[in-house]
Amino acid sequence: SLTNRLQNVFGKLRGKGKVTEDDINEAMREVRLALLEADVNFKVVKDFIAKVKEKALGLEVSKSFTPGMVIIDIVNKEMTELMGGTQSKLAKANKPPTVLMMVGLQGAGKTTTTGKLARLLQKGNHKPLLIAGDIYRPAAIKQLQVLGEQIDAPVFTLGDQTSPVEIARAGLQHAKDNGNDYVIIDTAGRLHIDEALMEELKQIHQVTKPDEVLLVVDAMTGQDAVNVAQSFHEQLELTGVVLTKLDGDTRGGAALSVKAVTGKPIKFAAMGEKIDALEPFHPDRMASRILGMGDMLSLIEKAQANIDADKAAEMERKMRNAEFTFDDFLEQMAQVRNLGPIDQLMDMLPGMNKMKGMKDMKVDEKQIDRVEAIVRSMTKEEKQKPEILNHSRRRRVAAGSGTSVAEVNRLIKQFDDMRKMMKQFSSMMGKGSKGMKGL
Ligand code: GDP
Ligand code: MG
Repeated sequence: SLTNRLQNVFGKLRGKGKVTEDDINEAMREVRLALLEADVNFKVVKDFIAKVKEKALGLEVSKSFTPGMVIIDIVNKEMTELMGGTQSKLAKANKPPTVLMMVGLQGAGKTTTTGKLARLLQKGNHKPLLIAGDIYRPAAIKQLQVLGEQIDAPVFTLGDQTSPVEIARAGLQHAKDNGNDYVIIDTAGRLHIDEALMEELKQIHQVTKPDEVLLVVDAMTGQDAVNVAQSFHEQLELTGVVLTKLDGDTRGGAALSVKAVTGKPIKFAAMGEKIDALEPFHPDRMASRILGMGDMLSLIEKAQANIDADKAAEMERKMRNAEFTFDDFLEQMAQVRNLGPIDQLMDMLPGMNKMKGMKDMKVDEKQIDRVEAIVRSMTKEEKQKPEILNHSRRRRVAAGSGTSVAEVNRLIKQFDDMRKMMKQFSSMMGKGSKGMKGL
């Protein structure tokens, strides 16, 4: 899958201590192939790769503490942008009802999505009316009525002998008369776009002046979906897209291409046949999902915002060479403190939450002050070589810092744990251990 392929590329990058321009070019070549194979529009791929490359080279990723992570982060951000950047909300009419018109090919999920959308609106305390505008597909009206009953939403129909344009007009009037603040018009689809259908949709559009024309797109159909989107858009001026069947084995092509090709944002994502399986579309979450990264990305962002890369690199070198001292420990504590509650942070790292000793690692300001006092009471030699801290030295340190021997013991234990943890952490960040690939 696209996710697997991308993870392979990033896994290789993570495996390198240094990343050269060649490495970046090679990685981008592989990302490009992965995207094309996932049926992303070739022009979209071309632009995307160019942007990521420019940023990666511009940022001098090669000098970063965690080059692989930085590149993942760039790819993630660009993917998010590609899908619209931020969540795109439904338009709202100045004067109710807000009219939503659903269009798309047959089987894309228009009727199902009409029901789901009504359900979402109801949850927001709205009163949607569903209009049965597909008079061609056998049982299409019944299908909508069943959905309406399921969620207790009214369905407007004039049977299958009245024209959909007339049904839409009458339905809208019905909503006005009955205080429905939203109207969702289900329309007919065809297997392929044809003139007669487009003409009918245009007339419905003219009569109802929808606030939203939502193209329902089956995410499984990849680039075909995007071509469809383009032709609908030429005729109807879409305002947004609903991606359906994201629960299936989609290749990602439609999600990544449709915004760039039509200029219209994906507003909702459907992930199942059930009535509740519709969510507002979040480009950042979708990007994380495609990259298979989840919470890892938010951790990277936190770390990047808070950890000084030069210091971190120096720290890492020390840890690798077993030169990590209590002075470094102090500094590390302070940096980790900047990241937020450490237990929460560690929860985001696979495997970390299960690590021995982590329960004792909760950091708060006061404790850092005490730790600082303890470390300051150590001699230079003790800070450099903690292993010489025998019992009598520990007693002296406790007295000098106004703490107890038990506290000093605990700190030394934490220091050891931290050393181990940092070793593991740095190999995760730098070397790409199993833990990360399993994400
Ligand atoms: P329409 O022809 O565009 O109105 O499509 P329908 O709403 O009738 O849906 C066609 C088929 O796709 C139905 O069997 C739906 O249950 C199914 N479907 C719609 N949306 C989703 C979805 O998000 N996930 C899955 N798995 N199936 C869906
Ligand atoms: Mg239908």
